[in-house]
Amino acid sequence: MALDFELTDEQKMIEDTVYRWAVDWLEPKMEHAYESDEMPPDLFKELGKLGVNGVAYEEAYGGAGLGYVETLLVYETIARVSNALAMTVCASQSLCFDNFRRHGQEKQKQELLPEACEGRLIGCLGITEPNAGSDAMNISTRAEKRGDRFIVNGSKTFITNASVADFMMFYAKTAPQKGPRGISAFWFKPKESKGFSCEKIKKWGMKSSPTGLVTFEDLEIPEENLVGGLNEGVNVLTSGLCTERITISGCSLGSQRSCLELSLKYAKERVQFGKPIASFQMIQEKLANMYCGYKASRWMAYSAAAYCDKLANKRGGKGTDLDRMAAASLLFCSETGTKIALDAVQIHGGYGYCTEYPVSRHFLDQKLWEIGAGTSEIRRIIIARELLRDEFRSGY
Ligand SMILES: Cc1cc2nc3c(=O)[nH]c(=O)nc-3n(C[C@H](O)[C@H](O)[C@H](O)COP(=O)(O)OP(=O)(O)OC[C@H]3O[C@@H](n4cnc5c(N)ncnc54)[C@H](O)[C@@H]3O)c2cc1C
Repeated sequence: MALDFELTDEQKMIEDTVYRWAVDWLEPKMEHAYESDEMPPDLFKELGKLGVNGVAYEEAYGGAGLGYVETLLVYETIARVSNALAMTVCASQSLCFDNFRRHGQEKQKQELLPEACEGRLIGCLGITEPNAGSDAMNISTRAEKRGDRFIVNGSKTFITNASVADFMMFYAKTAPQKGPRGISAFWFKPKESKGFSCEKIKKWGMKSSPTGLVTFEDLEIPEENLVGGLNEGVNVLTSGLCTERITISGCSLGSQRSCLELSLKYAKERVQFGKPIASFQMIQEKLANMYCGYKASRWMAYSAAAYCDKLANKRGGKGTDLDRMAAASLLFCSETGTKIALDAVQIHGGYGYCTEYPVSRHFLDQKLWEIGAGTSEIRRIIIARELLRDEFRSGY
């Protein structure tokens, strides 16, 4: 059992490269991007130049041919500067195109994935609907077959990247009478399609990452754009949710790390009562708790990613150890992330409450991870279900 958690030389190089880019290119844009709630337009092209838009995709598709550990590392590193934009990158790379890579048709993948890796296509994934959030199998968007096309009507809400997306994957009912077994996955190009509209949703956190309410009105989709086969959408959805929860944990992790580093620096510099505030034990207690939280979160997330990388089929979903580990990773990272961000603001005092200080952004962003990609309550339900299943005998 290897327990040293040392990054390999290649992983260290990825971390250094992405971090240098994040500090030089992204950081100077963040205050404006957050205030204007606009994503820097060249974000994906920049990441394409770094070769990190398809970290786990095969090289034949333009990817880096690495794994979910490296994908997590890239998201963690971007999130050290921007949790929100790490989410936007993850929504395109992991939620959308990785699902397409795992379940899409070969010819389409050969054509589209290299464009995604270069950053010329931005993706989004639509599961959630106004009346179906945690109860995702209860979606009401319909796709009706007419000749060689499907006609889609319905809506999706809270969709990350919807307003900027060139490619959308989504789920719709194709056989409503079959319940969850009557759901299918589709893809299409929103900017080239009639019958698609998107309204931006205003949020108090995760600003600069666009979120949209999408409406489908007689949207026509050719039948070859089915992903994973007719009425097979549940398999696509549930297997994707695990890698999504693991890699998305990186957004919380990077933000946790930044909160700790910014707080250490500030506590050493800020003088009150004639001493740096770092000399006060109540500040030290917070720093120690933040450190422990980050270290434990890191272990939860990277061990889940390493476990996933070892699996031949990388399949999650009900009845798998991966399902439990993925839910636990995001549950722990998100709740710890919120606590760490709260402590970081407290250590910064009044300055922590001002937008000029990046801890304010981390604080606003972290809360989302207790909600997005399945809420904390739903993750606890999954963990308990998998612990209680009869044949459970994993080494945890
Ligand atoms: C910024 C942002 C980005 C997002 N990006 C995407 C995206 O790209 N694509 C996408 O499809 N979705 C996205 N989402 C949607 C997100 O996944 C949902 O918000 C989430 O799954 C919860 O659904 P809901 O908001 O409808 O809450 P609800 O399901 O209505 O839940 C409300 C409350 O009830 C609790 N609850 C519900 N059921 C149970 C239960 N059985 N037991 C106990 N408690 C329960 C919940 O935990 C929660 O506390 C995003 C959301 C946000 C805010």
